[in-house]
Amino acid sequence: MQKLLVRVVCSVGLFPALCTTAIAGDAPRGNNVRLVFVGDVMLADGPGKFIADGGDPFAEFADLFDSADLVVGNLECVVATGGTPEDKSWTFRADPRVIPLLTRYFHAVSAANNHSGDFGQAALLEQFRLFDEVQMPYFGAGPNREAAHRPLIVKRRGVRIALLGYNDFPPRRFEATDARPGTAWIDREVMTAAIAALRRREPSLIIIPFLHWGEEGERHHSDEQETLAKALIDAGADLIIGAHPHVVQDVGEYRGRPIFHSLGNFVFDNFDDPECYKGCVLSVEMEGRTVARWSITPVQIDKQGIPHRVLRAQHSNKTTPPASEPARASAPPQ
Ligand SMILES: [Zn+2]
Repeated sequence: MQKLLVRVVCSVGLFPALCTTAIAGDAPRGNNVRLVFVGDVMLADGPGKFIADGGDPFAEFADLFDSADLVVGNLECVVATGGTPEDKSWTFRADPRVIPLLTRYFHAVSAANNHSGDFGQAALLEQFRLFDEVQMPYFGAGPNREAAHRPLIVKRRGVRIALLGYNDFPPRRFEATDARPGTAWIDREVMTAAIAALRRREPSLIIIPFLHWGEEGERHHSDEQETLAKALIDAGADLIIGAHPHVVQDVGEYRGRPIFHSLGNFVFDNFDDPECYKGCVLSVEMEGRTVARWSITPVQIDKQGIPHRVLRAQHSNKTTPPASEPARASAPPQ
């Protein structure tokens, strides 16, 4: 990591000036495209109950989301009524009543994670059908391998953007095959080939891999994350987005492209470690394929898993280096 420029540690209370220089929602930006990303969105359990009671977990962020050309998050559950829970520690199935909230706030969700298969193939296929019915775009999973690996390409302000989702976290049986629905699995050779092919075909395409990777509870990225991120950027990726560790990780940069190793949780409950309740919203402004600027809006998640804005006055404006010892979640959902 020494050769990378570590720009910022994104943790509530440790935001340097760069982080708190937010992109104003109504700032003029010409043809620049504004992208907003959040990490893990889990809409079962506490958040599911909150929604069943009429709550809107995204309400406090509506202005931020509405000011963006593209809002993307990682959907860390399956949305269905059918299926049966898989034999694993944590299984998350959200009621389809959450779908209007997803379509209200998100332009796309990644389903490439270790929970989209929690209630089996039937539930995942039900989710695909429900999402297709309301034209809720998703990527990183599909009814077969080809569909799971297919990039989701959207056009904003005349600019085409490709989103690719990949999961690195077991169970591997959630992976899509030619005959089985599931997720796209992280494989360096496969991913670099796919990205390089996209880049050759379309030099102006903004290519964004959204990766479910990293060590749970680790506030610093791993060597594996760094190696893979560099390879993807060398292949043609413009910006790397990560989630899964349940905490916000450091931000790297390689060849001028930022690497957001983990955006942490956004909507999620059932953690012991207070760090797991600190998330963020990432805003990125693209000038062509170049990241012109980015900012982080800190988030405090309550015990029910609902995110809240953190008042600017609560932040340190100092450039504080990362803690030397990473925090570890005592029992994060896996
Ligand atoms: Zn995960």
